[in-house]
Amino acid sequence: MVKAPAPALVQDLERLLAGFPYARSLPVDPLAQVLPWAGDRRAAEIVGVLASTVAVGNVKSIRTDLTALLARLGEDPRGFVEGFPRRSWRTLLAPWRHRWIRADQMGFLLLRLGEIYERYPGGLEELFLEGAEGPGPEERFAAGVHALSRGLRYGGPGESRSYYEPPPGYLRLFPSPREGGHPACKREVLFLRWMVRRSPPDLGLWTRVDPSILHVPLDTHVYWIARHLGLTRRASRNWPTVVEITRALRTMDPGDPVRFDFALAHTGISGDCPKRPDRSICGRCAVQPHCDLWRGRRRVPRARGA
Ligand code: SF4
Repeated sequence: MVKAPAPALVQDLERLLAGFPYARSLPVDPLAQVLPWAGDRRAAEIVGVLASTVAVGNVKSIRTDLTALLARLGEDPRGFVEGFPRRSWRTLLAPWRHRWIRADQMGFLLLRLGEIYERYPGGLEELFLEGAEGPGPEERFAAGVHALSRGLRYGGPGESRSYYEPPPGYLRLFPSPREGGHPACKREVLFLRWMVRRSPPDLGLWTRVDPSILHVPLDTHVYWIARHLGLTRRASRNWPTVVEITRALRTMDPGDPVRFDFALAHTGISGDCPKRPDRSICGRCAVQPHCDLWRGRRRVPRARGA
């Protein structure tokens, strides 16, 4: 357990946010390819699930491969998902690949989305909410992520599996915080931020989910800076660390705990933070007074897990 963040850190994070160059960072983020669909909730969900699932690696390769993938869906992602012959899922998107993620896996994802939308007229929000029960925000959110992951893998709670068997490696694309190892589930949690947060840059299309239950999508950049700002002392990038960092962020803004996430992630992605003391760069850093690395207190070991 870490102590509550100092008021001065909150003020400096606000300064980081106020001066953040969204015009530079948003176009390179996968969210940029979801935003054009903000007026069509179902299409935004489909594109959002694809975009968050391939959000692995550097932003340039994500953008290139996601653009190629979305081009296959054309101008009507919803019609594509509803209309393609289901037996063709293996070859539907071939040839395509993003790192270890293959075209047959993404074809199966589109198949699963079609099956989910037949059962859940309210879409993935309804699937999430069907599972999101518990005494507090942490339990509700973890249960909702579990339901979403289970749905994208096989089917919703109480639903039988897909008629088709998923291709090798598919199930690992959608981990659950309830599994052994308690993974951080970064991509699902990122998708939920996009859909639920009401303020830019996010879409806020899921109006039945309270943004106060959101947790931080814990990528390597957010983990690094959170660790150096003292928001966690945990050495593993897993679900308990997601919860610990989110608790700290919730003390700063109980209604919108992941408000700083985009800026923190892109501080690392953009190279604004060199992840080493550099007087020419760190001198301009809004959170420099709180950075353990700058203050020379300690070096943080590489995180275990993903
Ligand atoms: S002070 Fe330097 S190393 Fe620390 S967070 Fe800021 S830019 Fe990164």
